[in-house]
Amino acid sequence: MAIRVTVWNEYLHEVQFQEIAAVYPQGIHGCIQEFLEKEGFAVKTATLRQPEHGLTQEVLADTDVLIWWGHMAHHEVKDEIVERVYRRVLDGMGLIVLHSGHASKIFQKLCGTDSSRLKWREDGEKEILWVVDPGHPIAAGLGEKIILEQEEMYGEHFDIPKPDEQVFISWFQGGEVFRSGCCWRRGKGKVFYFRPGHESFPIYYNPEIQKVICNAVRWAAPVSGSPEETYGNTQPVVELHLAERTTISDLHQGKK
Ligand code: ZN
Repeated sequence: MAIRVTVWNEYLHEVQFQEIAAVYPQGIHGCIQEFLEKEGFAVKTATLRQPEHGLTQEVLADTDVLIWWGHMAHHEVKDEIVERVYRRVLDGMGLIVLHSGHASKIFQKLCGTDSSRLKWREDGEKEILWVVDPGHPIAAGLGEKIILEQEEMYGEHFDIPKPDEQVFISWFQGGEVFRSGCCWRRGKGKVFYFRPGHESFPIYYNPEIQKVICNAVRWAAPVSGSPEETYGNTQPVVELHLAERTTISDLHQGKK
């Protein structure tokens, strides 16, 4: 069965600004949906202004991998929906957070740090993404680097927990560097942060960027048949022969 992907986009820049609509006439989510479908994934989209932000229980239950693009309205995402997405990730749904999604509530919650903290500059500088883990499945089919002629700059320090796996590090023309492709595991879920994708540049049309996102979908998809986990108070699975417990009065009486 095809991996089921939901592409979530805030979808405000494309509606509010003509110059952004010119770059993404179908919205950023529409562009991402198109190339994922060409790759054989089963893709739906969801946006902020839909009821429950388009992320109902049913939609999430039918999602193997959720892709997240947000920027100007992170605060509008309801905590209840953030909690719902969080629980699905712990339960095995993959999450790919793109570009300015670094400051989203869901990414901050999964990081446990203030991941909104980084440097930025919108000058259209060159970015070179270096593959620093060439054996990683997210880097499959790429060269040793991806060159983007014009992008927004993000610079360190980026306040994230140390990634479990680091796939890309970016260099920018102005001298900064940035951890631009990072993997974590949370519960049974896999999380990938991928930096490129400022709305005013046609980044998601770039075939290499598309390849990374397709690879990331495959990497983040849940493992089928993973064990059901149980938590909380539990009975021993091996018969226990416990010594009698030493009480405080035993200690006072010098019995032990
Ligand atoms: Zn941006």
